[in-house]
Amino acid sequence: MIPYGRQNITSEDIKAVTEALQSDFLTQGPAVPAFESAVCDAVGAAFGVAVNSATSALHIACLALGIGRGSRVWTSPVTFVASANCALYCGADVDFVDIDSQTYNLSIEALTEKLVEAEQAGTLPDVLIPVHLAGQSCDMKAIADLAKRFNFKVIEDASHAIGADYAGLPVGNCRYSDITVFSFHPVKIITTGEGGMAVTQDEELANTMARLRSHGITRDPALMTREPDGDWYYQQQELGFNYRMTDLQAALGVSQMQRLSQFIEQRRALAERYFSLLSSLPVTLPYQAEWSASAWHLYILRIKPDLIEKSQKQVFKELREAGIGVNLHYIPVHLQPYYAARGFAMGDFPVAEKYYTEAISIPLFHGMTEEQQNTVANVLEDVLI
Ligand SMILES: *Cc1c(COP(=O)(O)O)cnc(C)c1O
Repeated sequence: MIPYGRQNITSEDIKAVTEALQSDFLTQGPAVPAFESAVCDAVGAAFGVAVNSATSALHIACLALGIGRGSRVWTSPVTFVASANCALYCGADVDFVDIDSQTYNLSIEALTEKLVEAEQAGTLPDVLIPVHLAGQSCDMKAIADLAKRFNFKVIEDASHAIGADYAGLPVGNCRYSDITVFSFHPVKIITTGEGGMAVTQDEELANTMARLRSHGITRDPALMTREPDGDWYYQQQELGFNYRMTDLQAALGVSQMQRLSQFIEQRRALAERYFSLLSSLPVTLPYQAEWSASAWHLYILRIKPDLIEKSQKQVFKELREAGIGVNLHYIPVHLQPYYAARGFAMGDFPVAEKYYTEAISIPLFHGMTEEQQNTVANVLEDVLI
């Protein structure tokens, strides 16, 4: 089976992790800040807080922005459930904004309309979580303008998008958001096994997130409410968690970051090659917005149902049977039973729902060979035509 995504691990990666294993620190050592600096340098952020997953990063990002009981958080329905769950962890209410039919990111028009209505109803969101689907940035400038006009905060879910650019600058510089979150799960662009990071330009947000990552405790006298009792003293200032990343993971992350631009370059080359290999198939190829240079975490096709006699389910089945590890990103979150039980229903976000009946992610990963890519293209042609 050619997988839809997989990690790339070299002997340098293995050496880096081995060295961490032999060092004095398996956790809370120097590898974590080194990884935070490497990511911040690459994306143009001032502060990074490494954690054990992007899910944890989204949770502490929401808390740092004051999300709690009665708050409202909006995100895209076409995302992994974690983008919405983070708000529920805080006791907040979640709502969704339908997607754009071309980019599959949340629609600026739908967002604007929903904000105008919410303003009249007195139900404006406190935080918006735009998701950069497949590695292509949302139109962040438009979102930042709306954030100013309607007074809400912005967390970019860039789980797919480390290494991507928006308007010529790296995703993660937070010029148009408060916090940006990355995931380092093995299918994403770089990996630490499990892992995530929240980056920001705001030192206070960074300090709060760093505290929440480790039980709500600080050891920095400058951040304490009173003089330390002695050198042993630490202070719990709020209810935090153990969301720490280990030094083993961070060492792998530092090593992976050295190949970030190589990863992105190869993903872009593979995507370019797919555009020419697949141009005559009865599918819609990914749309590339002019403001964005995608990290190409995913290559998503949409079958054209009018031109294909098979159902999406049949196409999917035949591709997998032929050894092509296709996937579907994503089942619209509002259709999950857990969310349906909270009042959402089919028909709420029709563009996302239609997308779900046509989308297929085909294999794309660092280390994928041209031969594997040709196989994918040939099998697609056999199945679709
Ligand atoms: C993978 C992913 C997450 C969660 O990342 P973890 O590191 O696995 O917690 C969140 N949002 C999106 C869009 C993702 O793809």
